[in-house]
Amino acid sequence: MNLLETPIEYLKGVGPQRGDLLRKELGIHKYADLLNLFPNRYIDRTRYYKINELQNSNSEVQIVGKIINIKTVEQGKGKSRLVATFVDDTGQMELVWFQGQKWIRESIKINIPYVIFGKVTQFGATYNMAHPEMELLEEHKASLRSAMQPVYPSTEKLANKGISNKVINKMMQQLFMETQALFSENLPNYLLDELKLTPKNAALFNIHFPKSQDLLAKAQFRLKFEELFFIQLQLITKNLIRKHKIKGMPFEKVGENFNNFYKNHLPFDLTNAQKRVLKEIRNDLGSNAQMNRLLQGDVGSGKTIVALMCMLLAKDNGFQSCLMAPTEILVNQHFNGITELAKELNINIKILTGSTKTSDRKIIHEELENGTLDILIGTHALLEDKVQFHNLGLAIIDEQHRFGVEQRSKLWKKNDVPPHVLVMTATPIPRTLAMSLYGDLDISVIDELPPGRKPIQTVHRYDSNRLKVWKFLKDEIAKGRQVYIVYPLIQESEKMDYKDLMDGYESISRDFPLPQYSISIVHGKMKPADKDEEMRRFAEGKTNIMVATTVIEVGVNVPNASVMVIESAERFGLSQLHQLRGRVGRGAEQSYCILMTSHKLSNDSKIRMETMVRTNDGFEISEVDLKLRGPGDIMGKQQSGVLNLQIADLVKDKDILQLARHHAIKLLKDDAPMEKSEHAKLREAFIELSKKKTIWNYIS
Ligand code: ADP
Ligand code: MG
Repeated sequence: MNLLETPIEYLKGVGPQRGDLLRKELGIHKYADLLNLFPNRYIDRTRYYKINELQNSNSEVQIVGKIINIKTVEQGKGKSRLVATFVDDTGQMELVWFQGQKWIRESIKINIPYVIFGKVTQFGATYNMAHPEMELLEEHKASLRSAMQPVYPSTEKLANKGISNKVINKMMQQLFMETQALFSENLPNYLLDELKLTPKNAALFNIHFPKSQDLLAKAQFRLKFEELFFIQLQLITKNLIRKHKIKGMPFEKVGENFNNFYKNHLPFDLTNAQKRVLKEIRNDLGSNAQMNRLLQGDVGSGKTIVALMCMLLAKDNGFQSCLMAPTEILVNQHFNGITELAKELNINIKILTGSTKTSDRKIIHEELENGTLDILIGTHALLEDKVQFHNLGLAIIDEQHRFGVEQRSKLWKKNDVPPHVLVMTATPIPRTLAMSLYGDLDISVIDELPPGRKPIQTVHRYDSNRLKVWKFLKDEIAKGRQVYIVYPLIQESEKMDYKDLMDGYESISRDFPLPQYSISIVHGKMKPADKDEEMRRFAEGKTNIMVATTVIEVGVNVPNASVMVIESAERFGLSQLHQLRGRVGRGAEQSYCILMTSHKLSNDSKIRMETMVRTNDGFEISEVDLKLRGPGDIMGKQQSGVLNLQIADLVKDKDILQLARHHAIKLLKDDAPMEKSEHAKLREAFIELSKKKTIWNYIS
C-alpha cells in the first residue's frame, strides 16, 4: 500500500485525539492530506532586527540579545506577570510572560545571548514581546531549522487544543522521516525540462522546509503549476468527452431564413465582433457535437440580434428554439425586439410568462407540440412540465447569473437529445475565472460596441455637492432628457433601505416640484402591475425622473434616459454599478453616470469609485472586482470546488494559469487518453484526483 494513504492518526505524535481534530478542522484524513497542507505564509528568519529598529507594526521579528534581569510584577487579584529586561547594543525592551512563570524563571539564563522571536507591541516608550520563542544563540546557530519558517493554516480550535504551528511543523518533519521523502513524480519529464520545474519531492520538501527564498519560490511555482495543470486537464477532458459523446443535432444548412435576414433585413451592419461570434457559433452548430457556449458581451454590445440569427439557423434546419430571461420586463423587451427584427420573415414567435393568459397558453402548448411554433421567448415559465417541445434544437439563456444550475439543466432535458445551449451574459467574467471555471465551456466574446456610441461620462460626487448635481439634472431635463435616481436595496437592511428610498423620494419631490416635473417611483414592495405601469409611464416619456431601487438593474431600455444617479454608490458592488450604468447611454445623446457617496469611504469603496470613473470596459471592471472580492464571492458557493485551491491563487497566479492551460491543451491534443508511456504517471495521478475532486459543470 502507498504509505501516503496511511490514516493520519498513525503518524507518530498524532494519535486518535489529534487525528480527530485534524480531520474535523483541516480535513486531514491521511498522510497525503498533511503533505498537501501548504503554508499560508512564511516568516523570514534570515533577518535579525536591532532593538532600535523596532516599529509598532505588529509583525513578528527576531532579535539577538541578552536578558539582564528578571522580576515578578504583581497585577492585583492574586495575579502576576514575569517581566525580563532584554538588551542588545542598540537599546532595551521587555519580555513578558503570564503563563508558566515558574518554569521560565528557573530555566532562563542571565547574561547569555539568546535569539528571541515573536510579535512586538509598543507600550509608551518601550517595546515588549509577550511569550517569545527563545533559543540560545549557540543552539540557534547549530540548528538545522529552515530560514523561512512556514505558517500553516489553522483554526481557533486547533490552537486551543495545543496543535500550534510548531506542532504541525513537527508532524511534518515526522511525515518526511517516515516516508523518507520519496514522493513520486506525476508530471512528464519533458514538461519538467521544458518549464524547468522543480521535481515533485524537492518541491514538497522546499514548500515545508525552505532553505532560501529562491528555493521556496521554485517550489511554489512547481506546485501551483501542477495544481492548475490538473484542473485544466480535467476541464478540457470533460469538454472533449462531451463533444465526443453527446451528439448534437447538426444544423447543416444555412438556409432561407438566415440568408434572407442577413441579406435583406439587417437593420444595421454587424460589428466585426458580432460577425466573429456568429461564425464561432455556426461552426459549433454545424458540427456533430452539442454546443455549450457562453456568449459574453457588455451591456449594449448587441447580443440580441446574434441570438435571433442563431434561432433562425435552428428554424432553417427544422428545429424549434427558445430564449429564456430572468424577468418579465426583460422577456417582454426581447419579445418586442425580436419580433420587430423578424417582422419581414415568416416565422412564428410567441411569448410565455407568468402572466400569459390560460387561453394563450393552450395555443402555445399546442403549437409547440405540433411543431408550428418556431421561437418561444419566456421567463422560467418555460421550465414547467407542461411546456413540451416538438423538437427543441437550441436553448438560449440570457443573464445566466440569475438562473441556478438545476434550472438550466431542466431546460436541456426537454428533449431526448440535448439541445444546443447558448448562455448570454452581460456581466463579464474575468478571463482567469472563465478559464478555470468554464474551461469546459466554449466562450465567445463580443468585445466591441456598435459604432457611434458616445462613451458614458462618469463622475463621483459627495453628498455635500447635491445642490450642484440637482442643478445638472434640471439642465438635462430642460433639454428633454430623463433621469434615473437609484437607491440601494440590500436584503439584510431592507427596512432601512426602504426608508432611505422614501426619504429620498420625498426630498426629490420637493426639489423637483409639480407641475414642472413629474416623478415615477418603482420598488420591490409594489404590486407587479403598478410597477409595470410606472415603468411604462417613464418609458413613454410621461415622467422626467425615475426613482427606483435596483429592480431596474436588468433589462430596462429607455433610450431617452441619459442620466443615471446612483445614491450611496459605496454600497454597491462593481458589477452592479456597471450594470446600472448600462441603463443609460442607449440613445444618441451624451449620457452621464453620477456616483453619490458620503465622505467616509473605505479603501475598497474608493477603488470602486475610481474604477467606475476611469473606465466603461466591463472586462477591466470585472478584473478589479476579482481582485477586490476574490473569486469565491464573485461566483458564489456552487463553484467552490474549483476555487478551493490548495496553493494557487486565481488572481495572483494568472500567468501560471495561462501556462498550465496552454500545456494542458497541447498535451491532450497530442495524447487525449494519456496513453503514451511518458504519461503513465500523469494518468495515474489524474484518475486519482478525478475521484476526489469533482469539478462543477457549468451546465450539466
Ligand atoms: P445587449 O448585448 O445588451 O443585449 P442589445 O442586443 O439589446 O444589447 O443591443 C443594444 C442596442 O444596440 C439595440 O438597440 C440594438 O438594436 C443595437 N445594435 C446591436 N448591434 C448593432 C450594430 N451592429 N450596429 C448598430 N446598432 C446595433
Ligand atoms: Mg440584452
